[in-house]
Amino acid sequence: MTMAQPAVQLENLFKRYGAAIPANGLSLEIEKEAFFTMLGPSGSGKSTILRMIAGLETPDQGVVRIEGRDMTQTPPWDRNLGMVFQNYAVFPHLDVAGNVAYGLRRFKHGKDANAQRVEELLSLVGLTGFETRNVNQLSGGELQRVAIARALAPSPSILLLDEPLSALDERIRREMQQELRKIHARTGTTFIYVTHDQEEALNMSDRIAVLNAGRCVQCDTPRKIFNRPLTPFVADFFRGCNVVRAQFNQQDGRGHLSLNGQTVPIDPADRGVGSGHVAIRGENIRLHLTARENCLRLSAKVENVSYRGQYCCYLLRLADQQSVNATVAADKEFEVGSDIEIEISADDIVILEADKAM
Ligand code: ADP
Repeated sequence: MTMAQPAVQLENLFKRYGAAIPANGLSLEIEKEAFFTMLGPSGSGKSTILRMIAGLETPDQGVVRIEGRDMTQTPPWDRNLGMVFQNYAVFPHLDVAGNVAYGLRRFKHGKDANAQRVEELLSLVGLTGFETRNVNQLSGGELQRVAIARALAPSPSILLLDEPLSALDERIRREMQQELRKIHARTGTTFIYVTHDQEEALNMSDRIAVLNAGRCVQCDTPRKIFNRPLTPFVADFFRGCNVVRAQFNQQDGRGHLSLNGQTVPIDPADRGVGSGHVAIRGENIRLHLTARENCLRLSAKVENVSYRGQYCCYLLRLADQQSVNATVAADKEFEVGSDIEIEISADDIVILEADKAM
């Protein structure tokens, strides 16, 4: 069986601006019709990479393929893409329908066909009835709906979205996240989305590429990225994850991990011997439970407690002086300074590869 043609393939892209290297040997494949997110801290290269897909920037090296064709040198208007930015790029002198119809200006459909298409698009983004509204009277969320409708007007095969919700307040942002998912499902267009917000990426995406310094560190489903981070950088990027140093060794022909002198068997059994890093999510650390099979049980001292309503975050110091954060239901209480025992299942310990040297 042959794989379906990807919507976008980035092959070994390099781009440098003086000391900044927003693409440093970046390769990615973006599946057709996916909601694909590029996630990374500010300055990791997300916008520049999106602009290279759009044709607004040219890579110093490498190839941008769109639906199998090399489009590295093709101008933006010949790439069949739509684009939505953070700042609402609407025309203040046109009303809502005028702004959406502007997206159709290169297509000579005739007046009736255009009016019908504008209606379809306004219904798609939930703005039916807003046709003659002046854009100055719209809220941030509504302006972004207009920008999305306009970008989708020519039926592009790919829609590029650069932090489109980051100027909106929290509640509207959550509402628009759901709305964008719905719009994506109804259009079948490939969405390529840029954000630095982990929750937004987890909430919306089919796949996430985590970027660091112009490279893709991990590309996978939200669940995999969250639960099985590949390197300390990815683990660290998601709030609530501990990155801890541990020792790996072999006993009775299988791999084991030890932390503060306590040992559990691990997969893969062939991790080898020596020290390395593991990731442990805060909600997978249990305080004061009876011992179970295949668990690490460690002594710890409570250094800090912060109450968050439904749960408490504990800062715990292990015997070897490493610290970990644990997230525990708020019905239990352990005082600062208490000596306690903590328990972690072997299944909840994620073995990390080393981050690549930048
Ligand atoms: P992100 O979107 O992840 O915040 P950017 O792609 O905007 O990252 O930027 C990556 C790096 O490239 C930054 O250090 C930024 O300052 C630099 N950069 C981006 N565009 C330009 C430009 N046109 N000229 C000079 N430096 C740039």
